[in-house]
Amino acid sequence: MGSASYVIGLGSNRPHGTHGRPRAVLAAAIGALAAQGLTIRARSAILRTPALGPSIRDFANAAVLMESDLAPPALLALLKRVERAFGRRRGQRWGARVIDLDILVWSGGAWPPLPRRAFSGRLAVPHVALPFRDFALAPAAAMAPGWRHPIACHTLRQLEARRRKPRPVDRRPRDQ
Ligand code: AMP
Repeated sequence: MGSASYVIGLGSNRPHGTHGRPRAVLAAAIGALAAQGLTIRARSAILRTPALGPSIRDFANAAVLMESDLAPPALLALLKRVERAFGRRRGQRWGARVIDLDILVWSGGAWPPLPRRAFSGRLAVPHVALPFRDFALAPAAAMAPGWRHPIACHTLRQLEARRRKPRPVDRRPRDQ
């Protein structure tokens, strides 16, 4: 396979023993990706996102545009290695993961190629939650605004604009 472009989403909501606060963890993780041989072309601003679930800490989120010769499964394996390396905390054998790395989109369109069967836990690119998560969509759209989602059939810029627009009340009768 020749070189492919990817947008990788990064998130952190826990400090790291060496790197410090989530913002610094993201910067260190980007350095780790580069050290693994990925060519970083651009990085988004870091967003601060209120935690969705029961976690009390806010998230730092960002995205990077990068190039690699790896196909999506091999890239995912690399991302998991970096996550594991960051999840290891001093004084504990394996601690909580401090970094989440997701393949948001790639230049190859859909992986596995369409039509594909939804299968929980299996790698799917674009990331299935991308159109619904502002903290992933906004940085991804900043990195690749003209990239067209192969299933939603809109560009990332359009998907993000639709998220921002207030929606009219749905007036259809309930049984339609
Ligand atoms: P999490 O670490 O909670 O983000 O989820 C990790 C699991 O989601 C992995 O085992 C992957 O196989 C799966 N997954 C599915 N699609 C993706 C994607 N686009 N990027 C990263 N992980 C994915």
